[in-house]
Amino acid sequence: MMEQEGEGNTEASGAFEHGAKFPSVDLMLEPRSPLLPLMEGLWQLTLAWQPDEHQQAQLQQLYAFTLAGNRQFNLTRITEPAEFWEKHLWDSLRGVQRLLENEAEGRGQKAEGEGQKVEGEEQENYLTQNSKLKTQNSFLKVIDIGTGAGFPGLPVAIAQPNWTVTLLDATRKKITFIDQVLAQLGIANATTLVDRVEQVGRQKHQRQSYDLALIRAVAAAPVCAEYALPLLKIGGSAVLYRGQWTEAETRALESAVAVLGGAIDKIEAFTTPLTQGDRHCIYLKKIAPTPNEFPRASGVPAQKPLGS
Ligand code: SAM
Repeated sequence: MMEQEGEGNTEASGAFEHGAKFPSVDLMLEPRSPLLPLMEGLWQLTLAWQPDEHQQAQLQQLYAFTLAGNRQFNLTRITEPAEFWEKHLWDSLRGVQRLLENEAEGRGQKAEGEGQKVEGEEQENYLTQNSKLKTQNSFLKVIDIGTGAGFPGLPVAIAQPNWTVTLLDATRKKITFIDQVLAQLGIANATTLVDRVEQVGRQKHQRQSYDLALIRAVAAAPVCAEYALPLLKIGGSAVLYRGQWTEAETRALESAVAVLGGAIDKIEAFTTPLTQGDRHCIYLKKIAPTPNEFPRASGVPAQKPLGS
């Protein structure tokens, strides 16, 4: 599990109650909410991406609303500006770094760890490959499973306005908060869903319908795989955001994904840019249909994780 938040209680017992009245949330902004650091150089250096003016304003508003929402709900313990930038914003976007629209590509820059500069023929190949990847990934259908206060899904929706992002959580009050954030920030490419993922994964219109599933700090990795893989199209990917990671976890995850129609595509180890916290992103690929018995009934994946 990631270090930052405890696992929340889940409230949705099953079907989403259409038309249910949500309690209204008092999202009065702090008169002087602190400013997020801009971190222009660090965004560029670490993700080869940086927010434009509009995106920066949305990220700042997201921060202000999260602080305001925290007065009413226990949304997050991460409230200091630099910490929020690193552990919520940067961390959320690091998982989709390979897919981010990349302003730097024309200048032949790549993110740290991939080499700093490419020139000549090498640059041409890189640009061709990168623009192919970008075209393929321009309009992805994404789901953030167990989004909590909206991470990683909200920063991803802000950074990638062409993607459509479903923010799913079993806890109604968190989704109520996110609904108001979406309206206040004018985020039109994200929608919310209150339900347990085990139910959603069995719904015909949801199953095998997403290009990308994101899942951070929700459950053990094999459980996350059972939540995510049924929702993916063949060829789709899941990103499991993890803190520490061990070989034993890789082996358990390998056996779990094998029965779910998936495979481990890549495991990336890295540290966060301000406090050097250990992180891993586990990328899964869906290579075959997930058998109908998965996901198992609500609660069962977490009680009896596959591969253990
Ligand atoms: N992803 C967010 C983050 O990283 O900040 C929130 C993490 S929070 C610790 C875990 C969230 O997962 C909670 O909001 C909880 O309601 C949700 N969750 C846990 N199990 C779930 C399930 N089976 N279906 C839907 N949501 C679930």
